[in-house]
Amino acid sequence: MAIDLRSDTVTQPSHGMRDAIAHAPVGDDVYGDDPTVNSLESRVAAMFGMEAGVFTPTGSLANQLAIRTLVAPGEELLAESNSHIVRAELGAAAVFSGITTRTWHSVNGRLKASDVIDLARPDSGPYLVSTTAIAVENTHNFGGGTVQSIKEIAELRAKADVLGLALHLDGARIWNAHIASGVSFLEYGKYFDTISVCLSKGLGAPVGSVMISNKERVSKARVWRKRYGAGMRQVGILAAAGHYALDNNLERLAEDHRLAKKLAVAIAAIDSTLIDPSTVETNIVGLDLTSMSFSAAELAKRTREAGLWISSLGPHYARLVTHMDFDDGQCDEAIEILKIALVTK
Ligand SMILES: *Cc1c(COP(=O)(O)O)cnc(C)c1O
Repeated sequence: MAIDLRSDTVTQPSHGMRDAIAHAPVGDDVYGDDPTVNSLESRVAAMFGMEAGVFTPTGSLANQLAIRTLVAPGEELLAESNSHIVRAELGAAAVFSGITTRTWHSVNGRLKASDVIDLARPDSGPYLVSTTAIAVENTHNFGGGTVQSIKEIAELRAKADVLGLALHLDGARIWNAHIASGVSFLEYGKYFDTISVCLSKGLGAPVGSVMISNKERVSKARVWRKRYGAGMRQVGILAAAGHYALDNNLERLAEDHRLAKKLAVAIAAIDSTLIDPSTVETNIVGLDLTSMSFSAAELAKRTREAGLWISSLGPHYARLVTHMDFDDGQCDEAIEILKIALVTK
């Protein structure tokens, strides 16, 4: 069996989760009749101190529903230059919502409130684009699983309030941020107008995200979800997997973080230019191959032939993501495969 570290989305639903799916009470969710969906939406909202939530098939849709309730067509959303919203949602903000984006650059995706506020141009009058919202990603995926500082988030909120700007949190992996930082979900929830969370990443559900906010924005998002064709019927079978994931798979993320660190330490011992293990805070190990004689695609090809699947996300950037179907034994095997693949010229 190959060891698959391409993403934390590759996990198989466990027996317990499949059992929960099989026994979920369901109803027609387009009529608001699915008790399992309804309870999941209110559960996730309450965890973050929000009023309401809407279940979506993907995190991309949860992000898109959130930002379209915050930003009008022709207005501007600020986001980090390597953020999922900007790079991995195929221009959806522009295509569906007429939203323009401007980006700030950061090292490892790490948020600095002043970088963002320097860019912000609210109320720009009749000639220039007006900024209306800011998106923060936590943890930052392409930044290497970076946990954002709660101090910077609080500072961003305070400065955004002065400028009248809304804040969205792309919290696909907010679970990992919470486990790594100890910051509570309620604390994270205080600073944002809208939040998207994924149940299908480290938490191990097969499908599902939730967008949470106040009642008014969530009602609007519900209309747009249906308009986009994502009004689902007896979808409690998927929401049940989300409940199961929150009940059983949250605390164990610490294990993913431990194995990511173990990988990073072993890789740095092979070549210290590849990664600084102190930057690995959660379950993502991003390798910088700029000083190697081969590309990330070549590395991914080599390891794949030896039974280890990794992602090549740029010419010199490879990514390994730990998850619930990856254990210490596989970690040792992966390290052996990487040792050979990384020293071959
Ligand atoms: C995975 C991910 C999403 C959502 O992805 P989907 O594949 O659409 O569910 C959003 N933001 C970040 C940072 C992600 O890593």
